[in-house]
Amino acid sequence: MIIQSAEFLCSNTDYRKCPHADKTEYAFLGRSNVGKSSLINNLLGRKNIAKVSSTPGKTKLINHFLVNNEWMLVDLPGYGYAKISKSEREKWEKMIKDYLRKRENLILTFLLLDSRIELKNSDKDAFNFFGENRLPFAIVFTKTDKLKANELASNIAAIKRELLKTWDELPPVFITSAVNGAGISDILNYIDENNKLIKKTQLL
Ligand code: GDP
Repeated sequence: MIIQSAEFLCSNTDYRKCPHADKTEYAFLGRSNVGKSSLINNLLGRKNIAKVSSTPGKTKLINHFLVNNEWMLVDLPGYGYAKISKSEREKWEKMIKDYLRKRENLILTFLLLDSRIELKNSDKDAFNFFGENRLPFAIVFTKTDKLKANELASNIAAIKRELLKTWDELPPVFITSAVNGAGISDILNYIDENNKLIKKTQLL
């Protein structure tokens, strides 16, 4: 897929106030600092489009971007950030979970994992949430340029082994780097294939 246009639409705290659900939508979620903004900037071919989500006050919001006037990319707040109060955490966890469970045009969520770091409890909680709610997701390993090929392979194998303790099969996996662009076109093509498939089924 070639990105012809990408524009920031709006930020929300409530899934009910998000843009009209008339386009397919793909969300991006991961621990804070996992490399989500960098990946989104790369996917959309814009240096700073996801910056809006990292400016103060915008960090805990659901950010919508319209891509090619055809589908929406959703930047969800990073989880696992230690420096917030319990009540604040519970509030925005509910916001994210409500969005993931109830947003009717959400096709799939890309769950980001730093390829250098082992699974944290917050990551496991996220996986469990997707499993319990039977929500479709794909795994995206980030920052893979920071590792040698053999280190990367063994880290990814370890995480897959860990996941297979609770999952019968793994979802699609993407190996990416916002620095050298690895995996970016794979994700875009995957979204494109899904969009085409959905269009086709709607026509039938
Ligand atoms: P976010 O909090 O998940 O949005 O993470 P950011 O995109 O802001 O990235 C966090 C840090 O990791 C920044 O210093 C980025 O420059 C760095 N980073 C993000 N992606 C990559 C990557 O693919 N490779 C490398 N080497 N660094 C990255």
